[in-house]
Amino acid sequence: MPFYYIIGVMACLTLSFLGVFQVTLDGTIVARFGTDKTRALLAYLALESERAHPRPALAGMLWPDLADDAARHSLRQTLLRLRGALGQAASAQFLLATPETLAFNRAGDYALDVDDFTARVHACQRHTHSALNECAACSARLRRAVELYRGELLADLFIGESAPFEEWVLVRRELAHRQMLESLDALTAYHTARGEYARARDYAARQIELEPWREEGHRALMHAFALEGQRGAALAQYDICRKILAREFNAAPSEETTQLHQKIRAGAVASAHPAAPFDAADNVDALAALAQFHIAQGDLARAHATQVQVVAQRQESGDRHALALAHQHLGTILCRQENFALALAHFRAALALREQIGDQPGIAASLEAQAQVLGRQGDRRAARADFCRALKIAERLGDPMVCARVLTHLGALDQRDQKIAAARACFQRALEIYTRIGNRAAMIDLQNRLDARRDPN
Ligand SMILES: [Zn+2]
Repeated sequence: MPFYYIIGVMACLTLSFLGVFQVTLDGTIVARFGTDKTRALLAYLALESERAHPRPALAGMLWPDLADDAARHSLRQTLLRLRGALGQAASAQFLLATPETLAFNRAGDYALDVDDFTARVHACQRHTHSALNECAACSARLRRAVELYRGELLADLFIGESAPFEEWVLVRRELAHRQMLESLDALTAYHTARGEYARARDYAARQIELEPWREEGHRALMHAFALEGQRGAALAQYDICRKILAREFNAAPSEETTQLHQKIRAGAVASAHPAAPFDAADNVDALAALAQFHIAQGDLARAHATQVQVVAQRQESGDRHALALAHQHLGTILCRQENFALALAHFRAALALREQIGDQPGIAASLEAQAQVLGRQGDRRAARADFCRALKIAERLGDPMVCARVLTHLGALDQRDQKIAAARACFQRALEIYTRIGNRAAMIDLQNRLDARRDPN
């Protein structure tokens, strides 16, 4: 076999499971798994790749309610779907199938984010340093590890009728979640020790986002604020912590947290900077502005961490309008970080608040954002319903920009569903609006879409 031929059939597979399930083959997203069980089978084989799995065990795990024959038949069907999704070459390369067993081929050319994440965490545990919070090599490893963690393991994979599979996911998910929190903890300590308080606060805020009641995170944030000279913000953070613990567990903060609070209140935490007067309202507005600044700078990690604090502080204030906006902005940042599952949760939170207070333009904006995520996740029916609702509201409000934008989204959905005439009609309507309001860039974009429809090449 000539060498170039071998190169030609080698496929590079990327499996991203920390967050929503995502698989790419030579850089292209693999979308057509057909069923959640197909995705589950791939995830299980890849994450448990150190051994071959007897087919009856896999069938029993994924179809616990079926009789043995029916379960094995379903497994064969699912394996066919998986092969169909990956294609012939990649299936041959990555799936090792015998009549008795199935396994993932670890010798193939693939990258699995969970393995990468775990390897970095373990390397830090094995590294011989005098102290983790002083080790630059480990902090670099952990920084990359926490970037890999887009969200909880297999966040969008839920197979209710398969309890054994769900139990397996839960155990793996909890392990990764713990490792993530410990990594964030170490990074927070590392940057605090170096006097890099803003970065320390970013990592502490992410801990709290993952676990709002995590006192280590609140203490780290209080400590960093205090060292920075932001005594008021440090005390406000204690208040946030206290309220979350009361709400979630009807409990008070631990002795350690209370003592830190008393020390900060007494001015006994050494500050590297002169204390600035603190006003809660000014602080949250400044934080919101800071988040926007980080977005403009393209620093999404810091924008994210800052906006998480904005949401937390808006929650305290009880201003539903401002809280909805904070959720909406956080959702937008998460989208840019490609953490779509979490983004959706924030858009939904914004929508619910806006529905409570009857904020019509806000409802349209949240529906539009939510629908974009749903469309991306392949739930085009739900996306369409939300876009249609947003369009109705925008029409009622007489907002041409929103109407045109939503019509463009709807046209794109129709296009993907091969509804060519409907897509054309949407694009045509959007083009008319853009022409009326003189948005030239959008007009050119729409004209291109319409021309592309006319010309199949
Ligand atoms: Zn180290």
